[in-house]
Amino acid sequence: MSPAQAAALERQLDQLVGQRASALATTTHRVPVYFHVIRTGKGKTGDVSRTRIDDQISVMNSAYGKSETGFSFYLKGRDWTTNTAWLKAPDTYEKQIKSKLRKGDAGTLNVYTASLQDGLLGWATFPWQYKGDPAMDGVMVHYGSLPGGSITHYNVGQSATHETGHWLGLYHTFEGGCTSPGDYVSDTPYESEPAYKCPTSRDTCTAAGKDTVHNYMDYSYDTCMTQFSKGQASRMQKEWAAYR
Ligand SMILES: [Zn+2]
Repeated sequence: MSPAQAAALERQLDQLVGQRASALATTTHRVPVYFHVIRTGKGKTGDVSRTRIDDQISVMNSAYGKSETGFSFYLKGRDWTTNTAWLKAPDTYEKQIKSKLRKGDAGTLNVYTASLQDGLLGWATFPWQYKGDPAMDGVMVHYGSLPGGSITHYNVGQSATHETGHWLGLYHTFEGGCTSPGDYVSDTPYESEPAYKCPTSRDTCTAAGKDTVHNYMDYSYDTCMTQFSKGQASRMQKEWAAYR
């Protein structure tokens, strides 16, 4: 997306939310979640137990709850699909997977787990994309990123928290680097590039404020991620009002 397209989206967001913006701060949303597990077979590669799905929802509720975002999540349904091709190349088969499995409307979160390639932990669609392509809406995460998963440092479940942040309209904290408007959130200081591990005193831009390496929308280790900012909470509320 070009800076001009991003700016046009922001204007559209403000128009859609309009006068309601001031009333949003106290709004709470309980978001229904459908969980779709893709695996090679029961107990085999890609399988995710009921317990780990429950744990994943708890991790998200803790993350969104303690930052007082106004969002909480509850499990509405879950299913397991045995399909080795889908498991191994969810990007190639994404359309097929989602057409077959997706449930609900714009305000329903669909989470898919598979074996993502190239070290990817997840990806997500943004709220403003729903209208043009509702079938593709949702969050994809690596099955090894769920709580108790196999991916060292990224197995506490914050990949789903992060991808759901995108699904609710947030950009990365390092979006646009040190250049305005960055991530379109005023209380997340500019950051020149993603943070890995947990570099707590990092400050990569001359503008005020250290890098928000503890933010869920950075790339730090799961255990390093502890917060959404107030500005991000209000952005998610606006995006929800406008598109979900
Ligand atoms: Zn991301």
